[in-house]
Amino acid sequence: MIRIKLNEENFQYDIHSLVKAFYPEQDVKLCGMEVSEASDADACLEVWYAPSGIELIWREDGTESRRTFCDTQDADRTETKNRLKRAIYGLLSESTGRVLPWGDLTGIRPTRIPMSLLEQGRSQEEIAAHMMETYLVSEEKTRLSIEIAQRERELLSPIHYAKGYSLYIGIPFCPTTCLYCSFTSYPIAKWQKRVGDYLTALEREMDFTADRCRNLCLDTVYIGGGTPTTLEPEALDRLLCAVEEKFNLRHLKEFTVESGRPDSITPEKLAVLKKHHVTRISINPQTMKEETLKVIGRCHTVSQTLEAYRMARDAGFDNINMDLIMGLPGETSEDVRHTLSIIEELRPDSLTVHSLAVKRASKLAQWMEENGRDALCNTPEMMMLTENSARRTGLFPYYLYRQKNMAGNFENVGYARPGKEGIYNILIMEEKQTIVACGAGSVSKRVYLDGRIERCENVKDVASFIERIDEMIERKRKLLED
Ligand code: SF4
Repeated sequence: MIRIKLNEENFQYDIHSLVKAFYPEQDVKLCGMEVSEASDADACLEVWYAPSGIELIWREDGTESRRTFCDTQDADRTETKNRLKRAIYGLLSESTGRVLPWGDLTGIRPTRIPMSLLEQGRSQEEIAAHMMETYLVSEEKTRLSIEIAQRERELLSPIHYAKGYSLYIGIPFCPTTCLYCSFTSYPIAKWQKRVGDYLTALEREMDFTADRCRNLCLDTVYIGGGTPTTLEPEALDRLLCAVEEKFNLRHLKEFTVESGRPDSITPEKLAVLKKHHVTRISINPQTMKEETLKVIGRCHTVSQTLEAYRMARDAGFDNINMDLIMGLPGETSEDVRHTLSIIEELRPDSLTVHSLAVKRASKLAQWMEENGRDALCNTPEMMMLTENSARRTGLFPYYLYRQKNMAGNFENVGYARPGKEGIYNILIMEEKQTIVACGAGSVSKRVYLDGRIERCENVKDVASFIERIDEMIERKRKLLED
């Protein structure tokens, strides 16, 4: 365990995230200075704030290193935070002998920095210097984030932030629960009898949303979850009929339905999606290694993925995304090469590469306790293999985000063929437009013109969502009132 002792409550979240990034396998605890030296901690970082500056002390294995810096009179909070993070980064980098690809950046949206600098009219060179000097980001990640920010700006240019909105609908059912899952997801077999009640509640929430947003232009619709295609064709048809009846889809730029689990896809369901003019679907292999699929509890085979993809192409889908995860249990660079060689043959229109993130709530956290963290290994080589493979097949990076506790401290990147990007994915990351979300566990975000953001959450539990639908609508009413 690593303790962080502070004499003031200042920047705790950033400090904690940075220490955790260097020591992902360790418990990192924040505490006050009163905690005694004779603790059970393996290492300790002390942060002493004083009016004149900040002193840092790092103790590990009987050794001690220090850093002190003075604050200038006119230093603002952001500048102080940046200097503090650079100093902590220096101490920990020296102690571990490691450098982090994203430097001392701990937020989940690193592209927002180049995006806001581009909006201010700064040149690529200036932005690169800022990323590398202020946040110690590697040259490679700096290049990637600037390229993505430029592409995002272009893709978002036809979107009217104030007069438009996007709609998310959550279907919280899956065939089984994946080892790493942290989403709102329940096994469909257990909940089949309540699907009708769930859709009834969802329709009431959609009714309210459609009415409340009737004067806004609906830009994108994203049906996710869970796995929406776990619904039987009739239920899927009912859901999509409701979307068509309630919302004005005339100006819609994109209509996505997650069909993530290949074992949930049938020609009948694809025909329903086509009938309702769904433009983009996602079929997610995660890996093309049979053995890993069993370990992660996906309960589908590689050949089911290939078959689902073929069915979707036969049904006429010309915008198919595939998700992969790097750092899955026991996977090596060779396994990644094998997966990518199959993906290159399939030629999906977009490819989203995730770095495995270990969430406390997932079964993976327990799995790691039993099998050790070493079995989850994501490397710069693997990330490079995916980037090279995507570019080789004409896919370019267009969105990026990070999560806590990611294998190798990397990122998730979406690659797409020009014209096949998922605009909703950028909107949710950049938080430029209001997204109204319906369904259990979904979170609506209202974005104001001055950049302020307000959120409201729906309960995660399906039974509670059905029973408390009036309360969910009331929450939305408050969020969306003028
Ligand atoms: S498919 Fe996605 S939502 Fe469903 S269990 Fe797996 S990770 Fe969770």
